[in-house]
Amino acid sequence: MFTVAAIATPCAASGIGVIRISGDDALLIADRVFSPFSPEQKLSEMKGYSAAYGRVISGGRVLDKAVALVFRAPKSYTGENVAELSCHGSPFVLQQVLRAVLEAGAQPAPAGEFTKRAYLNGKLDLASAEAVMNVISSQGEDARSAALNALDGALGKKAEAVRGIIVSAAANMSAWVDYPDEEIPELDRNTLTGDFKRCEGELRALLSGFDAGQAVLGGVDTVIAGRPNAGKSTLMNLLAGRELSIVTPVAGTTRDVVEQTVRVGNTLLKLADTAGLRAALDEVEKIGVERAKTRIERAGLVLAVFDSAEELNADDFRLAEMCTGKKAVAVINKTDLPPRADLEYIKSHFEYTAQVSASEAEGMETLESAIEALLGTKNFDTSCALLTTERQRACCEKAAQCLSEAVEALESGMTLDAVNVSCDGAIAALLELTGESVSEAVVNEVFAQFCVGK
Ligand code: GDP
Repeated sequence: MFTVAAIATPCAASGIGVIRISGDDALLIADRVFSPFSPEQKLSEMKGYSAAYGRVISGGRVLDKAVALVFRAPKSYTGENVAELSCHGSPFVLQQVLRAVLEAGAQPAPAGEFTKRAYLNGKLDLASAEAVMNVISSQGEDARSAALNALDGALGKKAEAVRGIIVSAAANMSAWVDYPDEEIPELDRNTLTGDFKRCEGELRALLSGFDAGQAVLGGVDTVIAGRPNAGKSTLMNLLAGRELSIVTPVAGTTRDVVEQTVRVGNTLLKLADTAGLRAALDEVEKIGVERAKTRIERAGLVLAVFDSAEELNADDFRLAEMCTGKKAVAVINKTDLPPRADLEYIKSHFEYTAQVSASEAEGMETLESAIEALLGTKNFDTSCALLTTERQRACCEKAAQCLSEAVEALESGMTLDAVNVSCDGAIAALLELTGESVSEAVVNEVFAQFCVGK
């Protein structure tokens, strides 16, 4: 493969900054810009996993002093020859060093190129590659450990195990269909049905953990709704300002907004920036019922705020109706004041409720428990296989659907040929999940979401 290079660390002043070079000629190219202090050393002649201290030089000019690390194929992140130059972490210096490396013969690495090469060289499966992204952006212990576990290929192993069962059933069915004269014992439809149901069950279990995984790993899109003066802003400020919460203003790269991620217990809530948030808060009030409905429909979590010190009014009834069937917690606010709202009505419309006083910062543990119970994040098991992207979820859904069709075909007495068609569909979906059989377009799309240098 042609050799690529990029700055692998964030573009900000820092202790060190790393230029990563990967490809057949990585070490030769590194030799052209790097001059070790020990004259007998030459990167292209050094063993893998070794380091040299020296100068980065371009056109006779010293750009920086740096440590060069040498990795030899296949024992590197990408599976190719890799040189990493650990320079001083100045964006200006790093840009200059990168330019020198490109002039010495490397191509600029597009976003995700290093991880893509790792995938293409069989260093990790596609699901694990996607986990790399989650590790980079993980916030909090659970997110990190789930992402690292995904990186180890937990999902790939699970998909492989399920696929193994289907493949062996499909092989038996084909043998039975194709060689009717051979002495192959007749297949027991009940056993087949049992196998397929078990596999479908495993996939459905993965699917049901998807939302919880998203909430722990990436955060859940949250809308705070309620009539004017219910206490939405106060609640928002309280959530954002809690001692235990991490408030991270992240400049969105894909969407052009600033997002604020707030940690509530084990769960990350994604709240839009102040402008977006204000719009969300005011939705019910100003923009009208339809827009509010859409917003609530799209949200992964609705915090429906009610003022317990006032009698419920038309806005409240409408909000309760809108939240029916949605992932919503009724936040019954202002419990420090004498109650006047019909709490029974609220409780009959929401499975999860929390009585709080936002201004007094009371009842936050109850709210936290309600959110965790609703999203399934409380006893979230980070060691399990986990679907971490929408792509993976869709593949898993497709496989489960095919298996349920296979079961249906078996139970309604259709031919084994017909059953086999569904099996093939399930196998194809699982191969796509792990990236063993996937179109180039999908691969490109996955890696385009990465940052440059990863
Ligand atoms: P919003 O319009 O829904 O955003 O409501 P605000 O957060 O602006 O709150 C409206 C008013 O209710 C403000 O005067 C808040 O100080 C007050 N408020 C909010 N939460 C509480 C609470 O828990 N108890 C009491 N007594 N007042 C509260």
